[in-house]
Amino acid sequence: MLVDKLFSGGRGDTGAVIDLTFTNRFTETLPADPRTDEHRRQVMGACFSRVEPVQAAAPALVAWSAEMFERLGLAIPDDLDDEQRTELARVLAGNDLLPGSDPYAMCYGGYQFGNWAGQLGDGRAIALGEVETPEGEHLTLQLKGAGPTPYSRTADGMAVLRSSVREFLCSEAMFHLGISTTRALSLTLTGDKVVRDMLYDGNPAAEPGAVVCRVSPAFIRFGSFEIHASRGDIDTLRTLADHTIANHFAHLPGAEAPDAATYAAWFGEVAERTAEMITGWMRVGFVHGVMNTDNMSILGETIDYGPYGWVDDFDPSWTPNTTDKAQRRYRYGHQPQIAYWNLAQLGNALVPLVGDEIEGLQAGLDRYVSTYAEGYRAMMLAKLGLSTERSDEDADGLIDELIRVLQLTETDYTIFFRRLADMPAGGQGRTDAELIESLSDAFYAPGDVDGEAGAAIALWLRRYFDEVADDALPDTERRTAMNAVNPKYVLRNYMAQLAIDASESGDHSVIAELLDVLRRPYDDQPEAEQWAVKRPDWARTRVGCSMLSCSS
Ligand code: AMP
Ligand code: MG
Repeated sequence: MLVDKLFSGGRGDTGAVIDLTFTNRFTETLPADPRTDEHRRQVMGACFSRVEPVQAAAPALVAWSAEMFERLGLAIPDDLDDEQRTELARVLAGNDLLPGSDPYAMCYGGYQFGNWAGQLGDGRAIALGEVETPEGEHLTLQLKGAGPTPYSRTADGMAVLRSSVREFLCSEAMFHLGISTTRALSLTLTGDKVVRDMLYDGNPAAEPGAVVCRVSPAFIRFGSFEIHASRGDIDTLRTLADHTIANHFAHLPGAEAPDAATYAAWFGEVAERTAEMITGWMRVGFVHGVMNTDNMSILGETIDYGPYGWVDDFDPSWTPNTTDKAQRRYRYGHQPQIAYWNLAQLGNALVPLVGDEIEGLQAGLDRYVSTYAEGYRAMMLAKLGLSTERSDEDADGLIDELIRVLQLTETDYTIFFRRLADMPAGGQGRTDAELIESLSDAFYAPGDVDGEAGAAIALWLRRYFDEVADDALPDTERRTAMNAVNPKYVLRNYMAQLAIDASESGDHSVIAELLDVLRRPYDDQPEAEQWAVKRPDWARTRVGCSMLSCSS
């Protein structure tokens, strides 16, 4: 249903609660699939298919990001009356389409778990279109879980509440941590039931359906290019690349009429942004869980929050994704290499655009390696409150040894750095036991940190404090600097699960509470101490906390 304007009694000159200006550059400039039904099919020579969201039975707004409403120039749901909120929920669930909206699903492919999977596409995401904000930004609004598309393959195009809560909260949390990410505008219950076999073990159950409205300048993925290259459809590949450069990388020389050098410079920038994104993930202990090339944004944004997780006790081999348990391809410590592998696949897809000049693409891959190596070292030094004015060997030695000692006993990655920041310099006179005691909050079994593990940790601490002494930064300044890059609050898996449990029983306040706390992840928030503690024991083995599947 097309709605005219939302609504009576709103605010502003027009009286509208939602009054968006659609620009729709994606659908206006790129080749469309001529068919507009949602029958599953291979879509050739096109970047998208027009498709409308399904009608949800009873849309109800559950959570929203007030600052995203503001950025879009929209009235904030808090300020609306019940009737207006229902109307808004109908738009955000996809029931009512705004004038100017041109809904579509994107065609893309991807390498899944290392293998080419052919056409994937937006199987359960429908973009409403691109809008221009009051500040002149172009942002695409996309509904995840709003019904089937030609790309839904054997699935239903729907999403359940639990995965939608996770996507909603984590996109906002990542943004506030300062890591490039797609955003979430809203979380809406559809009023429909969706059947899922959560652990793929023959136990299907009906779960509440939900829709997240995601926001990004573009949802174009590495796989968006790979699909056309794989089919030898160089015209469409070039059209999409030129569109992406002109609209999203317009600062590059030659962006108006790209040549081989422009494509190479663009690829280099994608590589650099990807390196920065991964550095951010490593800094905060985030594990994406499904780094397939269809889940890699061309803008270097974290995208598609599925079975992601946060390392609680530091373990580079940890992955939250049970579907990847055997191979652990997407484990925490492997993410930098996987991003490189994914970029290499993207580079291969772009070869037809650069002709003989493939050194430009190789340079892009090299740029990933150097950006990541330097960025990682600088990031780890920042976590330690140390200046980069020291030899690479000294820095790397200290960091490598830290990575090793963090694994000697179960050590909480988040709490460790906050406690380290609290420790005064000049600790050489302290005994091993005193040094360890200062960090006891970070250990899952503090009583067991003795013997070899304790000695190794204490030795590392002495070495660290030698370096701190070299920098001669006052303790308070070191602490402030460290606390600005080491979050106190992250969306630990069990926290998201508590929000889900409450929400599934009708209490959405935990989502709002977490959203609020995670808005200031680096600040001490005395009223929110309970969200800054180690993962509780009950969460160690609970489904949704330590184990997640792709079922969503
Ligand atoms: P993911 O691993 O979640 O990124 O999904 C891989 C592919 O499966 C993408 O093309 C998704 O759109 C599609 N997909 C995942 N879940 C569903 C669903 N419930 N209905 C339709 N397509 C889905
Ligand atoms: Mg995906």
